[in-house]
Amino acid sequence: MNDDQKDELMKKIKNEIENLTRMVEELKETVAPVAPDAAIGRLSRLDTMLNQGINKSSISQSLDRIMKLENALTRLDDDPFFGECQECGAKIPFARLIALPESRFCVNCAE
Ligand SMILES: [Zn+2]
Repeated sequence: MNDDQKDELMKKIKNEIENLTRMVEELKETVAPVAPDAAIGRLSRLDTMLNQGINKSSISQSLDRIMKLENALTRLDDDPFFGECQECGAKIPFARLIALPESRFCVNCAE
């Protein structure tokens, strides 16, 4: 990976973290508890609770991804082996790193 690619990847990761953080903030607003006397029917209350369940798991998935991306950002800076497959040592193609910066394995080993 050359310096330009490293820069590009770094920007991409930071961008991704920003987007995810914003998404988490928005999702958090939707999972605020529904007031029991809110003027919505029983069915829409169930519906809301169902959606909240989905949103809560999206939040934890996003937080998990943010952690992995932050980790990738640190490794990109510190780890001389960043971008190499941890299983077989092959170079992970740049396109794969851009699409999935937190990946530690090449396509073959990831399967
Ligand atoms: Zn591999």
